[in-house]
Amino acid sequence: MVNDSSIASLAAAELDGIAAPRTARVRVVHTDGMWRVLAMEHIGHGELILEIKGVLVDQPSRYTVQIGEGVHIAPAPGRDDPSRGDDPPSYPWQFLNHSCDPNAVIAGTNLVAHRRIDAGQEVTFDYNTTEYEMATPFACQCQACGDGGSLIAGFRFLPTPRQREMYPRLAEHLRRKLGGSGAT
Ligand SMILES: [Zn+2]
Repeated sequence: MVNDSSIASLAAAELDGIAAPRTARVRVVHTDGMWRVLAMEHIGHGELILEIKGVLVDQPSRYTVQIGEGVHIAPAPGRDDPSRGDDPPSYPWQFLNHSCDPNAVIAGTNLVAHRRIDAGQEVTFDYNTTEYEMATPFACQCQACGDGGSLIAGFRFLPTPRQREMYPRLAEHLRRKLGGSGAT
């Protein structure tokens, strides 16, 4: 369950114009053959990890996050090639890996801790909670899946019972696909 009050207070703190940019709570690193977003500090359940910022596009790609019906956030073109040493990247969120048992969830355009995350842990979210139909489906190899990973292709391809079970973690545009049923 997302803790709205802590999100609101963090957002308010940022709006109050703390002079220096708040230290990034995460860092993008290349380890075990892929880019990962790692927590740089303890992040409590319900706390804001980062904001999903970028340019709005109407088509998904492997680098976008869906935030509405036909609305996706993409990194601005030509930015954030970590192999070039862009550190810290402007769009760390594009390096978030999928997990079927994630420790973060996307609420609006905020990435929020879904449970306690320790410093050094990888931050993940479930792509099926934001993406209706993914541009580049893949066979999941997350820890929850192991070797017999399921195909991650987007919310529309999940069995209905699974869709309903995911309701509390779903982005608003996917909740609407369920017609509001399953609401708590
Ligand atoms: Zn998985």
